[in-house]
Amino acid sequence: MAKANLIDNLNRALPAAARKALTAIVQDAQGEALAIYLVGGSVRDLLLNRPTLDVDLTLEGDAPALARRVAFGLEDVRCIIHSVFGTATLKGANFRLDLATARVETYERPGALPSVHPGSLQDDLFRRDFTVNAMALALTGDQRGAITDPFDGKSDLEAGLLRVLHEASFRDDATRILRAARYGSRLSFRLEPKTMRWLRRDVTYLEAISGPRIREELARLWREPQPERILLRLSELGALQAIHPTLSFDGSQAEAFGKLREIHATPSRTVYLALLAWKASQPEATALATRLALNKRETEAVRAVAEVRALERDLSAEVRPSRAVELLSPFPSAAVWALAAAGQESARVQASRYLRRWRYVKSSLDGHALLAMSAIPGPQLGQVLRRLKAAKLDGEVRSRRDEERLARELLHAGARTRT
Ligand code: ATP
Repeated sequence: MAKANLIDNLNRALPAAARKALTAIVQDAQGEALAIYLVGGSVRDLLLNRPTLDVDLTLEGDAPALARRVAFGLEDVRCIIHSVFGTATLKGANFRLDLATARVETYERPGALPSVHPGSLQDDLFRRDFTVNAMALALTGDQRGAITDPFDGKSDLEAGLLRVLHEASFRDDATRILRAARYGSRLSFRLEPKTMRWLRRDVTYLEAISGPRIREELARLWREPQPERILLRLSELGALQAIHPTLSFDGSQAEAFGKLREIHATPSRTVYLALLAWKASQPEATALATRLALNKRETEAVRAVAEVRALERDLSAEVRPSRAVELLSPFPSAAVWALAAAGQESARVQASRYLRRWRYVKSSLDGHALLAMSAIPGPQLGQVLRRLKAAKLDGEVRSRRDEERLARELLHAGARTRT
């Protein structure tokens, strides 16, 4: 592809507001005689002609200062600065541009966060995970349109290979193992043989990676169209077990991921986590939640999975809707979605009916309506409301008039037992 075309293609792919912000960034950098580059996945995707998801820019200079100057002159653009990391994000309604000061990273011990210092473009490319992510496209100066590719990422791109930049890469940062599986699946790339050997050798370094970092990588994984393919690969590589001994993933769970997307267009990561923990006992789920530094909501969903799984037998095809609601409503909906995807046939059907319809069913009469019918405030009121809701769920009443009739009967029967 001709050089200038890459920048044209980039601009064409961006929404108008993002194009305007990028132009302002480039003009500012040029005015200050700073070199700015498109880097990482954005260059890879541009060369592959794939839709660019992110725009990642690297600057040999102070990125937050440049971002601040540019945002000042743009309407409806927010500027978020992370001074400690020397990074900034410009956020518009429909775009996001990330700017980072070019940096050197050094790892004091495996799994630790790297120490970061400002550096050159070369340093910045050298800290990256795979050769195909270690290319830069110059956006300023005489080099505008030229690609810097110190590790011959272009050849790997053409060959469909993921290759680490050096032998200690996975040891320095074992999250790259998770990234390798993710890019492999997304791009349909293979691991280059030496990279594969080093990955297998160093897979246990995942043990040293902190929960929040694993959780962050998992969050990226859930955004992929078929996360199950990546999880199967990671399981095969022994990576899941290295993260936590109770973590496993097999073909039946992969199938459940597919079924989940048939009934839910955009599953949340909490639902995916519940499915990942589908086979865990409650103590195992608790240990897993701690290991993955899950938040409260995710922990509750993962911990509920064992109990929800135990409901499978009770949720036969004959179970009344009111009974299904009684059984399922105490649990977080994410755990019930997991049941709707991974359970036995009849439990799946009942769980999805619950999620889609039954959990929203309410009686047409509320407490006020019952009081107006001479109900006496107290526990009986709640009982009648629950009974009305069950009758509606089970199709015993079909209209408001039916419900009023039933309410009168119930209140009358209640009054008789009191006298
Ligand atoms: P993409 O590569 O498509 O941007 P992504 O959404 O995972 O994928 P990030 O995780 O934000 O993007 O990473 C952006 C770039 O930063 C990557 O292309 C890679 O060059 C680099 N990078 C991110 N994480 C690491 C890591 N742990 N080690 C080395 N390089 C990394």
